Amino acid sequence: MTADYSDINQATKALNEIKSTLEKYNYQYYVLDDPSVPDIEYDRLMQTLIKIEKQFPSLKTPDSPSQKVGGEALAKFSQIQHEMPMLSLDNGFEDSDLESFEKRIHDRLNISGDIEFACEPKLDGLAVSILYVDGLFTQAATRGDGQVGEDITQNVKTIANIPLRLKGDGIPNRLEVRGEIFMPKQGFEKLNEQQKATGGKAFANPRNAAAGSLRQLDPKITASRPLRMYAYSVGVLEGGDIANDHTHSERLATLSKLGLPLCKETDVVVGATQCIEFFKRIGTLRDSLSYDIDGVVFKVNDISQQQRLGFVSKAPRWALAQKFPAQEELTLLRDVEFQVGRTGAITPVARLEPVFVGGVTVSNATLHNQDEINRLGVKIGDTVIIRRAGDVIPQVVSVVLDKRLDDAKDIVFPKTCPVCDSHVERALDEAVVRCTGGLVCQAQRKQAIKHFASRKAFDIDGLGDKIVEQLVDANLITNPADIFTLTLSQLLSLERFADKSAVNLLKAVDASKDTTLPKFLYSLGIREVGESTARNLAIHFLSLNKVIEASIEELQEVQDVGEIVANHIYEFFREPANTEIVQSLINNGVNWPDIEAPSEDAQPMLGKTVVLTGTLSKMGRAEAKSILQDFGAKVSGSISAKTDLLVAGEKAGSKLTKAQSLGIETWDEDKLLSFIEQQS
Ligand code: NAD
Repeated sequence: MTADYSDINQATKALNEIKSTLEKYNYQYYVLDDPSVPDIEYDRLMQTLIKIEKQFPSLKTPDSPSQKVGGEALAKFSQIQHEMPMLSLDNGFEDSDLESFEKRIHDRLNISGDIEFACEPKLDGLAVSILYVDGLFTQAATRGDGQVGEDITQNVKTIANIPLRLKGDGIPNRLEVRGEIFMPKQGFEKLNEQQKATGGKAFANPRNAAAGSLRQLDPKITASRPLRMYAYSVGVLEGGDIANDHTHSERLATLSKLGLPLCKETDVVVGATQCIEFFKRIGTLRDSLSYDIDGVVFKVNDISQQQRLGFVSKAPRWALAQKFPAQEELTLLRDVEFQVGRTGAITPVARLEPVFVGGVTVSNATLHNQDEINRLGVKIGDTVIIRRAGDVIPQVVSVVLDKRLDDAKDIVFPKTCPVCDSHVERALDEAVVRCTGGLVCQAQRKQAIKHFASRKAFDIDGLGDKIVEQLVDANLITNPADIFTLTLSQLLSLERFADKSAVNLLKAVDASKDTTLPKFLYSLGIREVGESTARNLAIHFLSLNKVIEASIEELQEVQDVGEIVANHIYEFFREPANTEIVQSLINNGVNWPDIEAPSEDAQPMLGKTVVLTGTLSKMGRAEAKSILQDFGAKVSGSISAKTDLLVAGEKAGSKLTKAQSLGIETWDEDKLLSFIEQQS
């Protein structure tokens, strides 16, 4: 919206529209603590309003949002009349705004010399007034509309870094401390995680979280939130040493002596040029600070100069809030695409109308998963708020429902994988939807083949991660079954291969065909099917076909297979592309000997939980584990009351001590070896 209107009628119409929009935004922000648009959108509208009012001064009315501070105090709180009004601050955006600020001060004070400025980060929280009478915390209020604030005494008392009694000498009879209550970034992240986990409303940013946490009727809620306060000025003042201070910075130092917390990143500089330097310096620190700031406040340091400068309707003439580039912006969500990751996770990615935010142009943002889409209630075609703070990846914070068009479309998750068309599954315990085409999906191909060839799976000597990448990139293999059809000439066509290494690899491939059913099952890379689950499946079903045909209930009969893993296995074999590859592997010569159901006698440790620790120098941990599993034992990694036996090798440490304290039977390696011998 430009502010150059040729006639007053046109200007009046635009002005009324802007005013009512700003009033709505003020209400959402100050009263509900739930803004629907980012600050930059509000600031843009406000600047336009100010321009129009400058162009047509007759249109400027005392009730214009440009003349008002904040929002009205909520009726649910008792009200407190401020003895001294709590005002807003004029805003600057360009270096030139700081220069004009200095010039205005020179002109008004009619001086040309240096002006000292106190510089303070502009904390992004909400203003508070705290009254100390004879050093005792007596009352606390929000800013409200600048004249009347809300009584939040009990809530503010719960904030850990606010003293309930001032310390030291020279305590004033009455002292009104003004400061900002904010939520540190870490606390905000934690609170939002909790809110999401418990189905509560996540806060859009730390400012809203602080405001929403503070303006609660129940102080217990406030007490449970990680709020902090930094003091930045003084309101009402009667007596005390602080009354003798001549500058703002001296007053802050005195507040600190009285026990009030202050922001550390402050300074006193001379002239606009040094203000600009300070602004840039804080800008580089912004992301590393533990709290959110949205600019820097510059204040004339000399209190007598402040008094001579005085106020305009809603802000002091002696201060300027210079704003940083926005970390939140509005943009259009044009479309949603679904990306398949290396593990098959399907992630919805928002394609955005490119927007400059947090110092970069953002055109994509992850929507994470279906739950997040539901939580945001977002549709294609919506206007959304994007937040990019620091190096954190851009987030879609919320939807501006007011701007939703009739043709906004629901975001529909695909039923099949957008890369390989295999069907997708959503595991019971997960928010993520995954492609089940683990063996065939191009997006997962390299990962699947690397796993297949790895030591505990097919153990193909010479087929390491790099070679797999080379073979896939050269399109020589697209799935594990292709490994067995590789030819010498194909390998020799690749850069890395000489005659000998190619022949050796083919030999290793050939040798790997003779495998075992547990290894085969493990090598398929079914989610959450590790070595021991693969072994349990093989022992339980004895044949591959039975595993493939098993129902979810039957799968759950296998030791250590719960509902979630049973679902993964079941879904894997429901995908025809996967079973085709299983068949091709067999057609290509992969084979394993029959396994017989172990008799009870052959499983002398059935149902026992065994833990291995220390160095087993004669047999090695991996071999011991495998033998114990053959004996029917469950080999676990940690000692608990459920552990039946600890096998402790050399240099056994804390596990041995713990086992002894729990009275768990303990064997050394020799005892294990003689037990094994007795069984054969
Ligand atoms: P302001 O935020 O520009 O400046 C005044 C406030 O700055 C003070 O009240 C105080 O709370 C804070 N502050 C932080 N550090 C300070 C320091 N060191 N010294 C003094 N004050 C410090 O003014 P405002 O009137 O509180 O709010 C206006 C701003 O709020 C707008 O510019 C806009 O960004 C935002 N707003 C947004 C919406 C929205 O819908 N998104 C609506 C209303 C207001």
